Amino acid sequence: MTFSRDISDLSESLETLISEANETVLRKGLPPGVSPEDGCRVVSWSVEGTVLFLEVVSGPHVRAHEGMLRLRKFLGQRLGREHRVGLRKLVLDEYVVEFSLPAEPGGPVSIPFAHAVEIEGRTCRLVLRDVEDGFIQRGSVDRMVKRLIHKVEAQGYEGKGEYWSLIEYHGPKNMVWDRDPTEEMAARGWLKQGPTKGKWFYRPPLAAVMRTMERIAVEEVLLPLGFREVMEPHHVPFDVWIRTGHMEGVPNEIYYISEPRTRDPAAWEEFIDHVAITREVPQDILGGLLSPPNAGSCYAQCPIIYWSFQGETVADTEFPILVFDRTANSNRYESGGRHGIERVDEFHRIEPVYIGTPEQLKELRERLVERYRHVFNDILDLEWRMAWVTPFYLQQAGQTGGDTEEGDEHLKGTMDFEAYLPYRGTREESEWLEFQNLSIVGDKYTRAFNIKSQSGLELWSGCSGIGLERWTAAFLAQKGLDPGKWPEPFLKRLGDLPETIKTL
Ligand code: ATP
Ligand code: ZN
Ligand code: MG
Repeated sequence: MTFSRDISDLSESLETLISEANETVLRKGLPPGVSPEDGCRVVSWSVEGTVLFLEVVSGPHVRAHEGMLRLRKFLGQRLGREHRVGLRKLVLDEYVVEFSLPAEPGGPVSIPFAHAVEIEGRTCRLVLRDVEDGFIQRGSVDRMVKRLIHKVEAQGYEGKGEYWSLIEYHGPKNMVWDRDPTEEMAARGWLKQGPTKGKWFYRPPLAAVMRTMERIAVEEVLLPLGFREVMEPHHVPFDVWIRTGHMEGVPNEIYYISEPRTRDPAAWEEFIDHVAITREVPQDILGGLLSPPNAGSCYAQCPIIYWSFQGETVADTEFPILVFDRTANSNRYESGGRHGIERVDEFHRIEPVYIGTPEQLKELRERLVERYRHVFNDILDLEWRMAWVTPFYLQQAGQTGGDTEEGDEHLKGTMDFEAYLPYRGTREESEWLEFQNLSIVGDKYTRAFNIKSQSGLELWSGCSGIGLERWTAAFLAQKGLDPGKWPEPFLKRLGDLPETIKTL
């Protein structure tokens, strides 16, 4: 700790103050019965001019950096009052954190901001050097420990496969064909590869099928349950994704958005000159004209819906809040995983979001599933199944396994709806297509966005991702492209299938 003046003359006061701190502020909050040794204490100290050097040791109950912050406050106040000395700066020259890991790591583990990470068996020694007080005050040391534990846990999940447990199966049903509908549709001019990666241009027949799927979802599922439509913007600022976990979970799948540094045409003149002369975009000049990204394109719609209620107190009569968005398209950098219309970089999704008490959401889930069953059985006549899977909010926060609540009747969790795609092979051996999901996430997002009810009800939330490309891919893979073979209830809602535009 650095003070505003030479403090070599204050040794006696320091001796008294530090002993007092050891007995009081550094022990505060220890659970009853725990030895004071398990708190935090100064074990040695010395003074050199304006600097007070301290060696501090703690047990698991008061973390040493927390102790240092308390001590700074205590010494700052007392020395200020009694000797008119100001405490200028707190730096941890060296900070060693020892803790146990959930398992022995399967490989090397590293982390930024650390001077060293030493692991022996399940014991981890994290060494930090020259830590500024702002870093500890923001809770970053605690998050380093959490992150290390998380990384070791993630190593344990690797290659283990995801959690999957069947709930119900509707089938088998007759398959009309076993072709890949996207290839067949491309041959018939129903769609065309988009101008950028992983996107498609849907021509009239396919656009009509997709819009029919959308109408079915809205009219047969959402409106009858009382969902109300909202329209959200496409751009998601980073702070929203930091709250939801996406910024840690899927930063490698996000399309990032940069703003121009300026709209002043004069600043863009050189860029425009180059385009005019070369018919190419001068990337280096463009780079200088853009700000670093500060947002991303919609990945899923729920984060912005939660943001829209951030910090608000909602009238009790509103619960459960039932809303849905179908305005924001989802963009994801799928890279090598792209295939057909079922795994694309831009897709059309309807996302209902629900916020209410745990009981309300449990009941709502049953009613939602009932409406979905009606659509997939009575209208689309699909062969499909439903299974509990790793909750998306863990997956998109970078976790891949574990943490499902089986003993809890799955109050929280994610269920996937999967369809058999005959072109991929047999029912038993091929991978089925997740065409939508449904989750209850507990209070994770209501807490993260500080959403409250008038009378302090316990608030949970959840969402369901209705992927229109996936509904369509599942339907066409099972039913083919000949409307003569499509189920009557679907045809009724489709009307006449428009012709595509003939090109030569
Ligand atoms: P997958 O495991 O197939 O990548 P996901 O777990 O990433 O899916 P979620 O984020 O849970 O998907 O999104 C919910 C729904 O969004 C999916 O059920 C699906 O309908 C749709 N979806 C997700 N990714 C894509 C994609 N790349 N192309 C088309 N639809 C998608
Ligand atoms: Zn969601
Ligand atoms: Mg995915």
